[in-house]
Amino acid sequence: MKVTQSEFTISAVSPNQYPTENLPEIALAGRSNVGKSSFINKMINRKALARTSSKPGKTQTLNYYLINEFFYFVDVPGYGYAKVSKTEREAWGKMMETYFSEREPLRATILVVDIRHKPTNDDVMMYDFLKHYDIPVIIIATKLDKIKKGQVNKQVKLIKETLSIEPGDQVIPFSSETAQGKEAAWNAIQAYLA
Ligand code: GDP
Repeated sequence: MKVTQSEFTISAVSPNQYPTENLPEIALAGRSNVGKSSFINKMINRKALARTSSKPGKTQTLNYYLINEFFYFVDVPGYGYAKVSKTEREAWGKMMETYFSEREPLRATILVVDIRHKPTNDDVMMYDFLKHYDIPVIIIATKLDKIKKGQVNKQVKLIKETLSIEPGDQVIPFSSETAQGKEAAWNAIQAYLA
């Protein structure tokens, strides 16, 4: 997809702030600091539209980015950040539950994981949570530039096995540094926007 327009629309704290024009939504989830903002920025050719690493775990909002006036990327707050209070964690869980269980325009979720590591327990929980709601998942295995070419297949296999991914969900190696995987990622996203 050729991105010609992208803009930050709203930080929504509750469903009455979600956009109402019924455009398709692609959500993005991932552990804090995994590279989710960098992924969004690379996909839309912007340096810093999605904020990178300002305050991990602190943003308890759904951030809506309108792309080509055609669909939304919905950035979900990162998980797995240790210094989050129980109250904040519960608020996060409630927001996730509401959004993923009820959001009609949601077409698929991009789950961003680190290609260097075995997915964490939080990653597994997030994947299972999405599958519980029958949401298609595109797994982006980012930081591809940090491993050797010869390790890629082994790491992809480890990710697939650890998450027990369902047939139909794919793992796409990606780098926000080199833009490797960008076309494959857009192809996967577009399949859910048709
Ligand atoms: P977020 O908290 O998930 O939004 O993570 P960020 O996008 O802020 O990225 C966290 C850190 O990882 C930053 O220092 C980024 O520059 C770095 N990073 C993100 N993606 C990549 C990548 O593909 N390759 C490399 N080498 N570094 C990356």
